[in-house]
Amino acid sequence: MIIILRPDATKKEIKHVVDRIKKMGLKPWISKGVERSIIGVIGTEDAIRLEPLEAFPGVEKVLPILKPYKLVSRDFRKESTVIDLGSGVKIGGEEIVVMAGPCSVEKEELLIDIARKVKAAGAKVLRGGAFKPRTSPYSFQGLGKEGLKYLKAAKDETGLLIVTELVDLRDLDLVEKYADIIQIGTRNMQNFGLLKEVGRSKKPVLLKRGMSNTIKEFLMSAEYILSEGNFNVMLCERGIRTFEDATRFTLDISAVPITKNLSHLPCLVDPSHATGKWDLVAPCAKAAVAAGSDGLIIEVHPNPEEAISDGAQSLYPERFAELMRDLRKVAEAVGRGIPQA
Ligand code: PEP
Ligand code: MN
Repeated sequence: MIIILRPDATKKEIKHVVDRIKKMGLKPWISKGVERSIIGVIGTEDAIRLEPLEAFPGVEKVLPILKPYKLVSRDFRKESTVIDLGSGVKIGGEEIVVMAGPCSVEKEELLIDIARKVKAAGAKVLRGGAFKPRTSPYSFQGLGKEGLKYLKAAKDETGLLIVTELVDLRDLDLVEKYADIIQIGTRNMQNFGLLKEVGRSKKPVLLKRGMSNTIKEFLMSAEYILSEGNFNVMLCERGIRTFEDATRFTLDISAVPITKNLSHLPCLVDPSHATGKWDLVAPCAKAAVAAGSDGLIIEVHPNPEEAISDGAQSLYPERFAELMRDLRKVAEAVGRGIPQA
């Protein structure tokens, strides 16, 4: 249920409503809007018990949220969520945030070199996997803690924020210590234990869409994180499985306007994993920005031929810089912006 408060509701009136909800053994979530605030009551609430709240001073209406996802829904929060990622970087507002870097963290000097180059082109966040969720147990699994240290060194050197994937619940403390944004990969989108744990974290979460999941399931996974108290969630469309085999996955570009319509959360696109081919990354990145994406996450490597993972979809730094120049024009055409370095 959502309790819509009157625009002139006083703090005392709001507290009275909140106290009553808590007394019922339910959890109130307050969403402060520009014009009015809303209280979400999630759980196995009994509508009959909540309805009398309409008689409380300061309450305008009590409405059911009909969608299965509640806190992520635009019914709960009308205004788009803008997440402060740190260092003055915000996602979900007018500016488009670009995250770039190698698929896997490899060598420290190599990572710092990539970080410098993507930063010069205008990226604000450095990506790189220290824990790699590989299809084969015999493939490179990532450098683990050593890789996280390299990411930290690259951050110290360039000031870029860090996004890196958490694969195993047991590594949460470690990843939290080094990352500015915790990435949950496509293969873990429905790892509900992991989702609940990052929901208790204070770090922003980049949640990738499961490769075989619907948008509704995607939003339900985000709901797991918000329901534990972490509202700093970014959705990331990264391609889904279809019958098409010309690309690694099929980029579902419509997921951008759909999620942004259904939810207040920012939405990004990963054109690298979606296509699996470097020459498709630029056109798909441009399409993503044109479709309203709030950000991009792109794989960049100075020597894709030698990359430990995903070389075929990695851009040379020069190509990435060229793409950034083109993206600024697309962003401008849709009333957005991509800041310079
Ligand atoms: C990645 O970004 O490194 C990654 C493994 O992506 P995905 O989970 O989308 O496959
Ligand atoms: Mn990759």
